[in-house]
Amino acid sequence: MQKQIRHLFIPSFKQQSYAFMLLAIVIFSCCLIGIFTRPITFLALLWPANPMLLGLFLRFPKLNNIGGWLGAITAYVIADLITGNSFEVTLYLTLSNLISVSVPLILIYLTKLDYRNYNQGFSFLYLFAICVAGCMLSAIFAVQSITHVPNSFMSSDRIWTEFGMWWTGEIVNFITFLPLILTFPKKDERQKWIFELFTQPLKTSDILPFIAIIVSVAFTHIFFGPGALLYPLAALVWAALSYRLFSVALINSIVCMVTYHSLTYFYLSSSSDAFLSTTISIRIGLCMLGIAPLVLCAISQNRQKLFHQVLDYANHDSLTNTLNRRYFLEQSQLLIQQPQHKTISVLMIDLDHFKQMNDKYGHHVGDLVLQQFARIVKQKIGPHDLFSRVGGEEFTVLTLNASLTQTFELAERIHQAIETATLNIEDHLQIKITISIGIAHQTLPLSGTLQQMIVRADQALYSAKAQGRNQIILST
Ligand code: GH3
Ligand code: MG
Ligand code: MG
Repeated sequence: MQKQIRHLFIPSFKQQSYAFMLLAIVIFSCCLIGIFTRPITFLALLWPANPMLLGLFLRFPKLNNIGGWLGAITAYVIADLITGNSFEVTLYLTLSNLISVSVPLILIYLTKLDYRNYNQGFSFLYLFAICVAGCMLSAIFAVQSITHVPNSFMSSDRIWTEFGMWWTGEIVNFITFLPLILTFPKKDERQKWIFELFTQPLKTSDILPFIAIIVSVAFTHIFFGPGALLYPLAALVWAALSYRLFSVALINSIVCMVTYHSLTYFYLSSSSDAFLSTTISIRIGLCMLGIAPLVLCAISQNRQKLFHQVLDYANHDSLTNTLNRRYFLEQSQLLIQQPQHKTISVLMIDLDHFKQMNDKYGHHVGDLVLQQFARIVKQKIGPHDLFSRVGGEEFTVLTLNASLTQTFELAERIHQAIETATLNIEDHLQIKITISIGIAHQTLPLSGTLQQMIVRADQALYSAKAQGRNQIILST
């Protein structure tokens, strides 16, 4: 903790000033949003300043220095003073705001929560539990201090209600705004996103969840009642399983705000007596509604990423990162069934005297030779050609729509590239290798099976070996 506090002071004056200016402007703007939305129905619900400050400190730890904190404090104080609060109330409000930001920061530090890995699913849940604790301490402080100020907006007669209103209001703010800041895409992601938006056609399945959300939220304004809180749930789940995290965070924020508005509007107009406790209950309900899609989206995306990773491992050879035998055969079968392909060529490649090399330099060097061999071949084949390790030091290249001459040229290119290459093994050993290649070429559709064709290429390879290696033989 001492180290952490020391880090607040270390940055240069320039860095501190930058953090001061930036946070003063951003936090002041956020306070203004809060102040301007205060008169909307009775509820000062929107107070994005605290989640914004916490989010910025988490995403840009360089702002978390004394300059940054002073900038934020300045913004809070000015914003509260210009809304007509007394100096004492302003002081307490500012301290409450600082508590709801600093307590989560301290708890994240103490629990070593890897908040950057919010896409690991549960860390999102832990992060919000931490924020809930911060909001609670902030609410306790606010209620304990402000209720003692004469003629303040908080009354000591209803201390539990004041506490509940403050606490739940803060939590809704964190649920609404913090995910937006944390998941806001980085520059390269933004560019990729915009590129995809303009280049890939919009599918109906992409817009349906969004339409479902609009409809369900519209329903909360038509059929009022306590059940309205759950109207958007199914659509939110749909969105969580369809969209990326930032989109879900954005949709979630809007849904939370709009649903909150429609529900409180309904209760305000029907019974103002029940308003306070009802508001607290609605806010807690909204938090639960808001957190669920975020966690679901994070976990679903994480699983998807993991699934693709596992699939990739399952389909590739771990040493050379070429296709493995099973996946190669699967893909080849699929390709040759497509009517647009006119010819198929199979190259069977085998490294010459590889066993001797293993015996001479060791298995580890043999492995590195295989890796470098695969790298060179990948540079010589086309982007749609299949390249697979079918056995120990035996590889296959499958290419489509090449004439016999083109196939032979491809084999020549690979053969020559390997023959002329000097393989550098861990900077101390230079090795030269040669390969033998057997070729089978046929027009599509195949008269026999793919396996028979591979056998023919293999027989040609054997002939190349028998005739002295380091050559290319075409199957007759
Ligand atoms: P030929 O020119 O007739 O192909 O001779 P060769 O020695 O290359 O062929 P042989 O089939 O006799 O030996 C192949 C060797 O490849 C035997 C085996 O130790 C080695 N080998 C197979 N898989 C691996 C591997 O993953 N790593 C290493 N380092 N060696 C491997
Ligand atoms: Mg060999
Ligand atoms: Mg072999």
